[in-house]
Amino acid sequence: GDLASLSNDDLQRFYTAANERYQAFKARGLKLDSTRGKPSADQLDLSNGLLAAVDEAEARGGGDLRNYGGGVNGLPQARELFAPMLGAPAAQVVVAENSSLALMHDSIVYALLKGVPGSKAGWSTEPVTFLCPAPGYDRHFAICAQYGIKMIAVPLTGTGPDMDVVEKLVAEDASIKGMWCVPKYANPTGDVYSDEVVERLAKMKTAAADFRIFWDNAYAVHHLTDKKHEIANILEACAAAGNADRAFVFASTSKITLAGAGLALFAASPANVAWMTKNMGFRSIGPDKINQLRHVKFLKDFAGLQALMEKHRALIVPKMNAVLDVLAQELNGRGVATWTNPDGGYFISFDVREGCAKRVVQLAEEAGVAMVPAGNTFPNGNDPKDTNIRIAPTFPALDGVKLAAEGIALATLVGVAENELKKRGQAA
Ligand code: PMP
Repeated sequence: GDLASLSNDDLQRFYTAANERYQAFKARGLKLDSTRGKPSADQLDLSNGLLAAVDEAEARGGGDLRNYGGGVNGLPQARELFAPMLGAPAAQVVVAENSSLALMHDSIVYALLKGVPGSKAGWSTEPVTFLCPAPGYDRHFAICAQYGIKMIAVPLTGTGPDMDVVEKLVAEDASIKGMWCVPKYANPTGDVYSDEVVERLAKMKTAAADFRIFWDNAYAVHHLTDKKHEIANILEACAAAGNADRAFVFASTSKITLAGAGLALFAASPANVAWMTKNMGFRSIGPDKINQLRHVKFLKDFAGLQALMEKHRALIVPKMNAVLDVLAQELNGRGVATWTNPDGGYFISFDVREGCAKRVVQLAEEAGVAMVPAGNTFPNGNDPKDTNIRIAPTFPALDGVKLAAEGIALATLVGVAENELKKRGQAA
């Protein structure tokens, strides 16, 4: 039963038994990895066809793609290909280099130095704050930390951020210039933003006239069930609400084709796209058009892209299920943790009893399961309840995934039992 309801003696016995299993697991000296959300080698193999998708004649074609030229906004065919995924006309799509994180980083730097359409000056002339739905993506928060942007964590509800909190904050505080959103299959919670949340984000009154939503739709097509969630179109919602310039939309093919050699994508209002491409033009003469053409030839069209995602799904689902099975088997009914069962994306968000996440991660690490530090999913690495842990099951092979989940489950039993003993003033 629930650890909290056990008698002191039963709790001691429970702790001893769990610890024996934990120590035996540790003694196996395994080296397992549950750190980053990386595609497995099998997943990368799905896109090997990309490597040779362009021949010499094609590379010479279209004005000689091997050379400079064509502008910073990318190959027209590539902008056409990704337009449906971004929910914008091709004319409002930019296809860039290999990392959407770099695009987000650069747009924040441009905004800090020069402002965005509607700014009176660069954002950095005054204090800047971003709203950070949390748990969220650590690298978003790291960009803010790097440039001295204050972060305010906002709770997630399963269907997006708590909009009562968001609306109140943005209406009152003109230093709030931005907000991170991962609107579909969010990293790590799996949140899918409801139509109501999208509508309220588009409509809300912001004290800052040049407020921007950083809409990082990194998992737009990364379904893991037949419930292929479609979310409301943020660009259309913002335009309809009279806030056409409010959203910057980002995505990439990092988890569609090759994580390190894919394409980064941006879409926004015409004014924002003009702003972005102007700034990009100082930074680079233009992107790698050969890689863009390779993607066009390999994926062909949006249907081709979706067909590829089905192959990813077939590889990821057994790993997700393996983790969910182990967690259910080991932890159900113990009152030690709760976790998500996402309809898409790359992660399981695992919440252990308050005050235990750091200890559980430490125990898992000591038993050979590499984890991201507890707290990483919150701004400044500070999970105020010390509860959230991100599980990333895609990268290892299936047996490694199962073992890692077992290690995490045993670490949880030991860590939380320890915590309960301590609470009762007993030694573990
Ligand atoms: N955004 C989110 C939400 C992510 O989880 C990741 C990591 N895959 C990225 C962006 C990074 O994407 P990219 O490889 O395009 O920089």
